[in-house]
Amino acid sequence: MTDPQAVDLLITGGSVVDGTGAPADMGTVASIDGRLHVSDAGWRPSHAARTIDATGMVVAPGFIDLHSHGGLVILADPRHEPKVRQGVTTEVIGVDGNGYAPFADSDNLAAFVDLNAGLDGRPEIAYDWDTVASYIGRYDRGQAVNVAVVIGNSALRIGAIGWDDTAADDRSLANMRAMLREALEEGAFGVSSGLDYPPGSYASTDELAALTAEAALAGGFYHTHVRYALGDRFLDPFREAIEIGRRGQGPVHLTHFYHRQTHPGGPELLLGLVDDARAAGMDVTFDSYPYEWASTRLLIQLPQWVQAGGPTALKERLADRSLRDELRTELASRGAAYTGTAGWADLRLGAFTRPANLQWESHTLAEVMDQTGRDAIDAICDLLLDENLGVAQVTSGPWSETLPHFVSHPIGMVGTDSTFLGEKPSPRTYGSFPRILGQFVRDEQLLSLEEAIRKMTGAPAARLGLANRGLLRDGYAADLVIFDPQRVRSNATYDRPRQFPDGIEHVAVNGTLVVDGGVHTGALPGRSLRRGNS
Ligand SMILES: [Zn+2]
Repeated sequence: MTDPQAVDLLITGGSVVDGTGAPADMGTVASIDGRLHVSDAGWRPSHAARTIDATGMVVAPGFIDLHSHGGLVILADPRHEPKVRQGVTTEVIGVDGNGYAPFADSDNLAAFVDLNAGLDGRPEIAYDWDTVASYIGRYDRGQAVNVAVVIGNSALRIGAIGWDDTAADDRSLANMRAMLREALEEGAFGVSSGLDYPPGSYASTDELAALTAEAALAGGFYHTHVRYALGDRFLDPFREAIEIGRRGQGPVHLTHFYHRQTHPGGPELLLGLVDDARAAGMDVTFDSYPYEWASTRLLIQLPQWVQAGGPTALKERLADRSLRDELRTELASRGAAYTGTAGWADLRLGAFTRPANLQWESHTLAEVMDQTGRDAIDAICDLLLDENLGVAQVTSGPWSETLPHFVSHPIGMVGTDSTFLGEKPSPRTYGSFPRILGQFVRDEQLLSLEEAIRKMTGAPAARLGLANRGLLRDGYAADLVIFDPQRVRSNATYDRPRQFPDGIEHVAVNGTLVVDGGVHTGALPGRSLRRGNS
């Protein structure tokens, strides 16, 4: 490409890290009509509408987050500041099997929003879509970041089978495959599962393999929150995920892959499953978030049979006193700690909206039990009923000692698993990318800067099949991050999670600055990406 004479945005003096893993090099990066032009350090066009002197800074492709719970909240708050301030320019939504399209029946969509309100929120927006095309189009009205939609298998199951714990017959399986095929034609990037979350969790291995096969036929992939309660609760859940890819002959992406301190073996056993599958020729990848704190909906504490039939049936069960005794019996089998308060001391609650419950915001379930005299089952069921299921939890997750194995593994990428609810979400929502760049790259030198950037940009773009994003290349979309490698750091902690990072100075999405001098500009240049046409 010949050097253009007039550009919209010119970035000079920076250390250019192009997203391939290649060594940083001094260079000049420009954006013209939302497209990149990359040249040597000495090049200057005759006109630039805006010039940024990036001396001492790193210029990199915008970061791609493979796991976000921003799907609904972004429609209510399109500035999406927790993410774009980290340097995120594209995020994957529809994860954990919990996507919001297709929903041919608006009552089912409303019920599904209720069921998942403790994870994705229940913002007051117009829920005015039904097909995947109309849902994807909702993200073309402007928000800070681009989104890439994967199709949750719960939506497919609700459309084809309903809310019950029922096996798919040939006809309903064909229906789900047809819905997924259409969704992929409309621009979705793959199919997701979240096998702790009904009704998608009622899917068998074979059903998921069939959906993976359908996704693979269109060039998509299987994005999975595995069946954590399966078998040994350690390796077996991931073995099933890989088996789904083998039977479906499709790519498998293990999301929020990590090792717990309580696992019976070490992290090398988990990572070995990925390495072995790849050595056998399978396309298996994963993402991780670099924090010790997990988060999801409080409902996950209750067995899946309670959730069968959808939210109305679920709430009737929660209110049934005799049924609570059954739950107590099941809970006792988890160990003595869970019948008293000890097992609940690190479960922090959030996202309350009822005045009477606001006092419990950011308090632990153990504290609620202590102060109300209720046991765990009564406390959980009462809070869920009172809040129409919309309660979030933060608990311990990845073990800090073994987290570096996942952050540095060459196949690993970043999925923040960002949730946006309550006063104190997991710090991963505000700090994931800066923590890797500050702590793991600079301070601990666990991996090179170029390798970390590759895992945040070029690698996830390849996973998604984004042909013109994720690298600094002529003609690619001008999604850019300019950060100070000496100052970049996360400020988000367990106790103070809603803190923006330091050192992420400028972020451009499709050529428009959304973060400028560390401040959100209010610009909303993000849009929906479509598979095969990004
Ligand atoms: Zn998630």
